[in-house]
Amino acid sequence: MSNGELSDGPQDGARSASRTQAGGLPAISRGLRSARRDDTPGQRPRDGSIPEGCQRRSLGGCFWHPFRVRPASHTGSGGVAGAHPPANGWQPSGLLVALVLALFTSTPAHAAQLLAGVAKVDITDRAAGPVNDPSYVKALVLKDGSTTVVLVTVDAVAIGGIGRIGNDYLGKVRAELQRELAIPAASVLVNASHCHSIVRADTDALTVQAVKEAAKNLVPVRAGAGRGREDRIMENRRLKLKDGSELDLRRAYATPRDEDVASVGPVDAEIGLLRLDRADGRPFALVYNFACHPIHGVPAGGNTADFPGFASKVIEENFGEGVMAFFVQGCAGDINPSLYKATQHPHDAEAYGNLLGLSALRAARGIKTGEASPLRVVREAVSLPRAADYQKRIAAIESEQARLLKSFRGTSLNFKAFLPLFLQHKLSPDFPGYHNYGYLHEKSQGRDALAKLDAENRANVEAYLQNIQAMERLTHLQVNLALLKRHHAEAVAAGTPTLDVEMSGMRIGDFVMVTFPGELTVELGLAVKKRAPGKFTFVAGYTNGYLFYLPTEAQRKNTGYAQEDCDCLVAPEWRKIFDERTDSVLKKLLAP
Ligand SMILES: [Zn+2]
Repeated sequence: MSNGELSDGPQDGARSASRTQAGGLPAISRGLRSARRDDTPGQRPRDGSIPEGCQRRSLGGCFWHPFRVRPASHTGSGGVAGAHPPANGWQPSGLLVALVLALFTSTPAHAAQLLAGVAKVDITDRAAGPVNDPSYVKALVLKDGSTTVVLVTVDAVAIGGIGRIGNDYLGKVRAELQRELAIPAASVLVNASHCHSIVRADTDALTVQAVKEAAKNLVPVRAGAGRGREDRIMENRRLKLKDGSELDLRRAYATPRDEDVASVGPVDAEIGLLRLDRADGRPFALVYNFACHPIHGVPAGGNTADFPGFASKVIEENFGEGVMAFFVQGCAGDINPSLYKATQHPHDAEAYGNLLGLSALRAARGIKTGEASPLRVVREAVSLPRAADYQKRIAAIESEQARLLKSFRGTSLNFKAFLPLFLQHKLSPDFPGYHNYGYLHEKSQGRDALAKLDAENRANVEAYLQNIQAMERLTHLQVNLALLKRHHAEAVAAGTPTLDVEMSGMRIGDFVMVTFPGELTVELGLAVKKRAPGKFTFVAGYTNGYLFYLPTEAQRKNTGYAQEDCDCLVAPEWRKIFDERTDSVLKKLLAP
């Protein structure tokens, strides 16, 4: 899309309307269905050969076979690939298998050498208009002999649901990787940066190409986790108003009046870091997780990967030769770039990207790398309750619209007449109509014509101002009413009370990251990090599917109708399930 459409407001929805039924979830479900056929790590290839990486044979099976992973299901089962022993999954029985398990539980002290490969492919759609900077799909393939983890980062708005990447993308990519590289579906995590660049229609094939190139060039690596800090480039876009409601900042509608705003929400300044070095200590790759909408744009306009593209460029140009940087979008549902609503200077994502890249670099240089064990990946199917209160919320907004329409007052002014009068009354409230001496002169002659004119104008100015405020509120309600109506229609058409998505997690030594589809608001990520048992636990949204906005239960009940709680498919109760499942995934990742 053009830079003029950078607001991530209604156009997201407009694009999705024709593309997705029920918010892209059928695609997610399809992805899960196809994945379920393939998600047994270590599954023996059809030709009976031992899978690549299976160097140990035992009791007639390969290293992986005793640890079959239970396929994901709607009841919330899941699996761990690469656990020693598995924290969950198929339960072996019998003395023989117990002996096998005992054998393998005794092995982690001699963990296999971690190997890594990286590759990137340009996915910019150059036929779609001017290009400011390229968009990439990047692949990081990690392998430790028994486990493979593939982290893919895409400079795109979402993995299905909205934008150019179709709902069939994830299933197609996973099927190809299973077929060509025997990589299990559960091992593949794809994160969209959420930048609004336009990517090529064949991004699925280009993704497979990137992973294959990365897998071809594995080198021994050392790993280390860390964290950096950047608090200058973002702001929370949900404003808490004095009436207890919340309103968000969008380019699609007006900012609330200063006098109505009570406080702002939090940001997460943490940069989650995974540093990978070659065996000789030279930097090889940097994964960095940060939460902010990449919707700032560039002064020249044109297709852009926004601040993550610039941040990665800074890292790659300064950390060492051949280093690849992987931006992983965090819980950015309610996080805008700083000064997002500024109108006095051009918006420049490059400046923000440079700040983020330098802050990530500064912290990364201090990370000590070493043997990275264990390498784990977890995937769980999660069933969430669909929103069931669309009609109630739609009725409430329509009632508010009717009230506002009735509130419009007639005035003698149009905008041309209003503006100079407004300025005069603000500039000189006591003598807006003329100089002070004129009023004194009238008074001395027993007249008050100026004062009477002022009173009439003041009333008109006030009425006109109220009309403007009602208009601003109506534009805001109109956007969010349209979103509620669309999602209501999709929910009715879907005919199911639940939404089926997947939660994933990966661990490389001390670096732990749990991922979820959709736009988690920042409080959710902060809460997970606060209670997470690991020292370096991070959270990524926008991964392995797209579930629109995911607000907290309190945000979801907001009567101010922010876009995060209207462009949303889930009932407030979703939060409890999210927390439980996050804890479950983290427990599996961090199990001894
Ligand atoms: Zn967004």
